[in-house]
Amino acid sequence: MSIEVHNLMEDIVLRDVDNIMKACGCCTCEQCRTDVVTYALNHLPPHYIATNIGRMMVELQSLEYQSRTDILAAVSEAARLVAEKPRHDQKN
Ligand SMILES: [Zn+2]
Repeated sequence: MSIEVHNLMEDIVLRDVDNIMKACGCCTCEQCRTDVVTYALNHLPPHYIATNIGRMMVELQSLEYQSRTDILAAVSEAARLVAEKPRHDQKN
């Protein structure tokens, strides 16, 4: 049996990112959204759980409660940076 791990921080950031980006007036195209999510996740501590324990919702709520301010700050900062320097019109 293999145990899978999952970063709960990712769920929280993905859930909040759209609202925060809209509130910041940030472009919400796929490129900008990906940049915001990546930046925010790189500036937040990961929180891994084993996905087979069935306690995901409890863990999620508890993590969100503890880290709410940090998460909002990291995502807002990311949205601000991306809004200043969007990469969506750059050619790769
Ligand atoms: Zn964009």
